[in-house]
Amino acid sequence: MDEDLRFDGARAAQIAEFIEPLRVAPGRRVRLAEDFDPRYKADFLGKKDGEALLRTGIGVLAEYQRRLAAQETYGVLVCLQALDAGGKDGTIRHVMSGLNPQGVRVSSFKVPSAEELAHDYLWRYAQRLPGRGEIGIFNRSHYEEVLVVRVHPDNLDRQKLPPSARREGVWERRYREINDWERYLSDNGFKVVKMFLNLSKEEQRKRFLKRIDVPERNWKFSAADVRERGFWDDYQRAFSEMLSATSTAWAPWYVIPADRKWFARICAGAILAHTLIGIDPAYPEVGDEARRDLAEIKKVLEAEAPL
Ligand code: AMP
Ligand code: MG
Repeated sequence: MDEDLRFDGARAAQIAEFIEPLRVAPGRRVRLAEDFDPRYKADFLGKKDGEALLRTGIGVLAEYQRRLAAQETYGVLVCLQALDAGGKDGTIRHVMSGLNPQGVRVSSFKVPSAEELAHDYLWRYAQRLPGRGEIGIFNRSHYEEVLVVRVHPDNLDRQKLPPSARREGVWERRYREINDWERYLSDNGFKVVKMFLNLSKEEQRKRFLKRIDVPERNWKFSAADVRERGFWDDYQRAFSEMLSATSTAWAPWYVIPADRKWFARICAGAILAHTLIGIDPAYPEVGDEARRDLAEIKKVLEAEAPL
């Protein structure tokens, strides 16, 4: 019999406790600057231990993924949001590295195309949802519709909305629509888990400088990112309101301190682990009749062995 590679009850409880301070309780009014420190890290963890922990954790995540895929009942959607240089790409690379690529789909969302603008604003996200048994990762997500679109309302102008959908209260309405959509997904077997990589302004400055100084990173740098940095306070406000309005019992937000990349990755791994532990996917059971059939087939195959 294979050993059970899942987290045991004690480990599951530790993980839940570890991520609890990052979770935005439904209904809580978040003021990002006061409530969440981008430099926070758990006292008991150093970088070395943390990296070892992540490696072990990734192996266990892979086992949960195999079960999820075999069961084909539930799916998981991870939404990753951050300001530029927040570490979304690196988090995806590190945390998902042990998973089977057949069962993971990463979708990145950029400035919407003409075709996308010709549809309702959730359309393009709905097309990239994971299937049952799959883990979908949104690198940026439908939350851009209440973040960049809010900070730069000319984006809203391009969405060709009817006047009734543009009036006062457009953001509150979008929060509600997003909450409803996620509730629908959750009720139908798709767990939505949302992570915000919370970076400090100073750490962003350092990372931008590195993108300029290190030739291999130049491609990651764009002058537009520095322009966006000029809207820092607007983004902090938009993020705070969005976190306050859309962290729900069925699809909670986690605010991950992102100034230390290694710690942010452990947090992301722990949140995904917690989600999968909650689903507790199981390999399908084979019934007595099917087992008898297997035994028959086995006999036939064994009889075919070369002499
Ligand atoms: P990157 O993730 O660095 O490749 O950049 C993608 C760009 O697309 C960012 O500048 C986002 O602000 C922008 N973007 C993503 N979603 C939307 C959206 N719904 N409307 C407008 N801009 C968007
Ligand atoms: Mg960028």
